[in-house]
Amino acid sequence: MYVGAIEAGGTKVVCGIGNERGVIEDRVSFPTEAPDQTLEKIISYFQDKRVSAIGIGTFGPINIDTSNPLYGYVTSTPKPGWSNYDFLGTLKREFDLPFGWDTDVNAAALAEATWGSAKGLDSCVYYTIGTGVGLGVVAEGKLIHGLMHPEGGHVLIRRHPDDGFEGSCPYHGDCLEGMAAGPSIERRWGLKGSELPTDHPAWKIEAFYIGQAVTNTVLTLAPKKIILGGGVMHQEHLYPMIRAEVQHNLNRYIQLAELTAEIESYIVPPGLRDNAGLCGALALGLEAHTNN
Ligand code: ADP
Ligand code: ZN
Repeated sequence: MYVGAIEAGGTKVVCGIGNERGVIEDRVSFPTEAPDQTLEKIISYFQDKRVSAIGIGTFGPINIDTSNPLYGYVTSTPKPGWSNYDFLGTLKREFDLPFGWDTDVNAAALAEATWGSAKGLDSCVYYTIGTGVGLGVVAEGKLIHGLMHPEGGHVLIRRHPDDGFEGSCPYHGDCLEGMAAGPSIERRWGLKGSELPTDHPAWKIEAFYIGQAVTNTVLTLAPKKIILGGGVMHQEHLYPMIRAEVQHNLNRYIQLAELTAEIESYIVPPGLRDNAGLCGALALGLEAHTNN
């Protein structure tokens, strides 16, 4: 059996097909343009693929309330043309298949819990620190949805005392995303994260912010694993810095091995590396097939 997977990011879309073991057997990628052009490319990719279901993990915010007429829509994104766009419905009109639909980060969390760093665990949190910051949550074996999907990139954080940057979130200024996403590093320092040396003060500030978010996640959701992915986390020296921030913030309040001696295997990179998003879409498709 083959299942289709669509990972729709703010900058690029990846489509692929894969199997029940999480193995991707074919993939294509193209830039995310206006919705009509983008959907045309997605539809033409799947036209000759014999898939049993399709999973979509997309940038958001999106409507995930199945009882709402706007289920399957991208909602309030500043991305030109995509606000109030019926992403899922457009595909459903082309393909009579079961569809999985969730955010890219929820998808990545599901993939990591199924095949990656959190395999065998019934909970994990996945953060992406990239063009934006987002988080996906698996709890008690299921992705968390409530009133909406989690929006943990926009939580409020304490400002670093040496940081005068106003923040780049169009809604909140200095929320987590406004202070720690890739574009805010670039605006603060005038250089892309990939161009900054590892001993640059940028990384101490970056770890300070991500460390706060991770600490709050430990305290509110208490997941069994925290996975940090996205372009900025290609800076591997950030992992030990973030772990140290979390331990500093917790100040020995939690005595569990995961937060003390074994923190290196608690706050980790994605086991699926840069495949977490596409594998997540595959996992959503498999789930839709099973539920059907
Ligand atoms: P997206 O979030 O758009 O899906 P990414 O996760 O690749 O894509 O994130 C892109 C962001 O990550 C950009 O702001 C880029 O500057 C930053 N980035 C990419 N690679 C690195 C790197 N090696 N070091 C630091 N920042 C990086
Ligand atoms: Zn924000």
